[in-house]
Amino acid sequence: MEMLIGGTWQSAASGRTEDVTSPFDGTVTGTVPVADAADVRAALDRAEVGAVTWRRTPAHERMRVLMRAAELADERAEQTAQVISAEAGKAIIEARGEASRSGDLIRLAAFEGTQLYGDSLPLDANRGTGLDKLGFTIHQPVGIVVAITPFNYPALLVMHKLAPALAAGNAVVLKPARATPLTALALARCFTDAGLPDGVLSVVTGPGAGNGPGNRQGLGDALVTDPRVRKVSFTGSTATGQRITQVAGIKKLSLELGSSCPVVVLPDADIELAASAVAVGGYVNAGQVCISVQRVITHPAVAADFLDALVPKVEAIKTGDPGFPDTTMGTLITAAEAERVERSIRDAVARGAKLLTGGERDGAIVSPAVLAGVDPRSPFSQDELFGPAVAVSSAEDFQSAIAQANGSPYGLGAGIFTSDVAGAVRAIREIDAGSVHINWTPLWRADLMPYGGLKASGIGKEGPRSAVAEMTDTKTVILHGRPW
Ligand code: NAP
Repeated sequence: MEMLIGGTWQSAASGRTEDVTSPFDGTVTGTVPVADAADVRAALDRAEVGAVTWRRTPAHERMRVLMRAAELADERAEQTAQVISAEAGKAIIEARGEASRSGDLIRLAAFEGTQLYGDSLPLDANRGTGLDKLGFTIHQPVGIVVAITPFNYPALLVMHKLAPALAAGNAVVLKPARATPLTALALARCFTDAGLPDGVLSVVTGPGAGNGPGNRQGLGDALVTDPRVRKVSFTGSTATGQRITQVAGIKKLSLELGSSCPVVVLPDADIELAASAVAVGGYVNAGQVCISVQRVITHPAVAADFLDALVPKVEAIKTGDPGFPDTTMGTLITAAEAERVERSIRDAVARGAKLLTGGERDGAIVSPAVLAGVDPRSPFSQDELFGPAVAVSSAEDFQSAIAQANGSPYGLGAGIFTSDVAGAVRAIREIDAGSVHINWTPLWRADLMPYGGLKASGIGKEGPRSAVAEMTDTKTVILHGRPW
């Protein structure tokens, strides 16, 4: 398969390619170019031209192209789901859910791209200024957006960047995760087939990181350091986000990073509801979700009932071939990642946690695990796990439960289970997370909502309205008349 450079499907300048393989059985699912800095330069050269073309295209025409792309994304949803499942090892039922969101997401973004209203400025309220001047703001595309995406939602997270960037009138260069480039290329084809002008969209495939000093530069540095790029929209690990902040220079940054999301179960909670929600929220996509439930903080009065309700639900999750319709949990992205998760579980047990179920590895699959009595200060609670396990600990009272929930470097999402509205309100105010869910876990997202983390979980918000705003610049305009 070729990559996309400014509307032209082509090979890497070096001619290098690499295979994309299934994490489940190693089958080759596709072959993609391995781009290098020369290809990045070519994509950015084309983007410079594309950004001008697209910025001069009226919003209604941009919307027409995007609506056609949305139709194509809908028509191709089943194909996209098969590609996601094959390259990411995601259970096909989950992959279908993910793929089916692309069309609507493009439509939501396309609408927001037509809503770039400015403000009228009451300049005469400023002493010394009369009625002879008029002031207002207009919004314009930033120009070139670089989008860098992770492996875990290869369609959804790509679409959360491409759709708003294009709707706002920008040119985009996308660097998808090396493990999952095929989904990104398939989605890009929806836009090119819909009539997106040349130059506006590129997808470069290859390694994000370089090989260290003196070796080949990674695509990441080549993209984010280029001064022609006015905005970097990144989703991935906190470590990579940190690197981007160090090298990007003066440009807008949105960083959607890692997490260790907490759920608090208070004594007045509906325990059955809490257990059912955690049995979903900790294990969707084999726990490889930034808003996955990693820590559950229970009151001692309900801890035993909660665990009794949770364990059988977790044991009912069916692992296996991601392509089978009755598999409810697929693989981790690689066997090496599964080994890392297995080691983390063993380490937590060595530190005194009790493994109630799961934690066994078979290739890239780790059976869904529940650990009780986990020390909230241990690496198993503090570091992002990104795997199918939930750490349960306890807290004596409301205040210490909130302190525990806030006691990690991250702040992406949180959930609290309670039947008391006063406790819910207090938790909403005191939990430091980008989204707080009452009587559900953080693993829930409507694509239109503002979405992004606090603390080490990132900077900025996604969701079509927020992303369109962050992918535009505001210009203040003053018309100087004469006093009359
Ligand atoms: P990652 O290793 O940080 O990779 C993310 C992307 O960055 C990939 O495309 C990667 O390319 C690229 N990259 C690697 N080094 C780079 C560099 N020096 N400069 C620029 N780009 C570089 O993350 P991942 O393992 O794919 O994804 C898992 C992480 O993403 C987790 O921490 C998860 O919490 C986070 N995440 C956050 C959100 C959110 O909304 N907050 C959503 C989803 C995932 P290669 O693939 O070629 O290495």
